[in-house]
Amino acid sequence: MVKIRKPFLIANWKMHKTLGEAESFCRDFLPRVKDGGRVDIAICPPFTCLFHVKSFLASSPVKLGAQNMFWEEKGAYTGEVSPVMLVDAGCELVIIGHSERRIILGETDAMINCKVKAALQYGLLPVLCVGETLKERQEKKAKEVVRKQLQEALEGVEKTENLVIAYEPVWAIGSGLNASPEDAEEIASFIRGLLADWWDREISSRLRILYGGSVKPENISLFMQKENIDGALVGGASLDPYSFAEIVRLSV
Ligand code: PGA
Repeated sequence: MVKIRKPFLIANWKMHKTLGEAESFCRDFLPRVKDGGRVDIAICPPFTCLFHVKSFLASSPVKLGAQNMFWEEKGAYTGEVSPVMLVDAGCELVIIGHSERRIILGETDAMINCKVKAALQYGLLPVLCVGETLKERQEKKAKEVVRKQLQEALEGVEKTENLVIAYEPVWAIGSGLNASPEDAEEIASFIRGLLADWWDREISSRLRILYGGSVKPENISLFMQKENIDGALVGGASLDPYSFAEIVRLSV
């Protein structure tokens, strides 16, 4: 099967790595992914490492992303970071609506909607995360949940190709229990169908939909063989430069 969409592999470091550890990752990882032609790669370090990591990425094809942001440009929002600051630090993309933020930090669909709009306004590529909990899957509500999350996150957003969707079933994140490639494909194809209905088929066929949840070198190619899965958002396995480089290599 020849896919028209370029694979996209995104490392989500979450709350891991000091400056020194980030630097050592870059030194080991970057020489292994010199050929950026066949796959898009991004690293999303914590805020404190963004600018430092950018200095290593300057002469590589790897993009820099953030894991979150606020939606206003500036103001009295203690502890928050704005889209302008992310662009200034060298970011090209931003993860929005990760389930850890939804569940642990109480991020709502309305907040996520504001963030998607702000990312687009300031020229950042939003990587919008959606996915059901184990209980919702057991109750056969996975599609209903994903549809609602997508609908609310994209409320009032003009159709655009500058969007990546990451389907991340909550129960598969950091658990070692990945979704089966067939289940992930079923939801990815459902998402593409929704976007075709809401926007149009042409745009929907060009948007990249990633899978996330316990992706590792041993399972990446099974996901990549699926028609509607165009890459992965990788947490745990992206912390190790050799394992993330292997995931990138096996994704094409
Ligand atoms: P994981 O995390 O690869 O450690 O399961 C994925 C994610 O949360 O984006």
